[in-house]
Amino acid sequence: MFGLIGHLTSLAHAQSVARDLGYPEYADQGLDFWCSAPPQIVDNITVTSATGQTIEGRYVESCFLPEMLASRRIKAATRKILNAMAHAQKHGINITALGGFSSIIFENFNLQQFEQVRNIKLEFERFTTGNTHTAYIISQQVEQASKQLGINLSKSTVAVCGATGDIGSAVCRWLNSRTDVAELLLIARDRERLRLLQEDLGRGKIMGLEEALPQADIVVWVASMPKGVQIDANSLKHPCLLVDGGYPKNLETQVQHPEVFVLKGGIVEHTLDIDWRIMQIVSMDVPARQLFACFAESMLLEFEKIYTNFSWGRNQISVQKMAMIGEWSIKHGFQPLLLQPR
Ligand code: NDP
Repeated sequence: MFGLIGHLTSLAHAQSVARDLGYPEYADQGLDFWCSAPPQIVDNITVTSATGQTIEGRYVESCFLPEMLASRRIKAATRKILNAMAHAQKHGINITALGGFSSIIFENFNLQQFEQVRNIKLEFERFTTGNTHTAYIISQQVEQASKQLGINLSKSTVAVCGATGDIGSAVCRWLNSRTDVAELLLIARDRERLRLLQEDLGRGKIMGLEEALPQADIVVWVASMPKGVQIDANSLKHPCLLVDGGYPKNLETQVQHPEVFVLKGGIVEHTLDIDWRIMQIVSMDVPARQLFACFAESMLLEFEKIYTNFSWGRNQISVQKMAMIGEWSIKHGFQPLLLQPR
């Protein structure tokens, strides 16, 4: 059995979902309540592969909210993730993806040291961040959606916002070694980590966001920001492709410009309907078929019977492993989400 640990994007989102799901006692509560709410399994999932194989899974809602980080409620945030992991393990789930901020909190606050959660000793090999598949899918979205727009990568500048992150650095490595992209712009706050990435890639220009945006034909957004940024579509190149892989989204602006194309990043579409309710809640356009690539990673590992943390730690994702999970992704019927006709 596979599992997904997820969370909602904001307190307002959590309140409206609680109302929709028939938990009115949760719907009127503020952040304090969510800080003390326990994890819950809220969905049972059945997925059929393009090969015909069928697997079962569970969705675990951790009750974490990004506001907990923004308001420095770190203890609550870390407890949410550890409790959700213990809950997944207690329910016999073999391989569970840590979606959205779950893996970021696990790594940033070094939760590896807290193996014991009450009477459960966490077996970390039962968990995966899902970031190898996410990085592969975002790289494919860059390659394939640029073709849809007639943007030639060999003449293009790609800016990666969150370049030094786990997903961002893997996307940079893929673009560097598997494509002929002309220029890479590397964006993040910590200059030293940017310099090390640049050294590792042997290329790339380190830049601030404001300076980079007007130069980029394509922008990959993979920064771990609790709240999105506002951008002015008129200051971008035209055409410009924005691949927003953040969860919550990195872009706060609803970009409405005929020559600026926003693609939901790190999202896959399955060839068959999936029996679940949860993707409706996170506003997928086609909830029966579209899902986060990190969640799909735990499905792929279950299909392939690989019960190990395929993606773990930080900045260890190799291009070889991205290619490997990419093959399984295609085999089992997942495709990167691409631009739809307007
Ligand atoms: P990491 O924590 O590993 O990396 C985050 C990156 O963002 C770092 O480079 C960090 O560098 C940068 N960053 C953070 N804040 C800012 C800022 N204000 N301005 C510029 N850069 C910033 O995160 P991951 O790679 O694991 O995840 C990245 C994003 O992808 C998250 O939003 C996450 O929720 C989402 N995600 C999406 C998935 C999907 O399936 N679609 C799956 C998993 C994650 P620095 O701190 O130096 O600024």
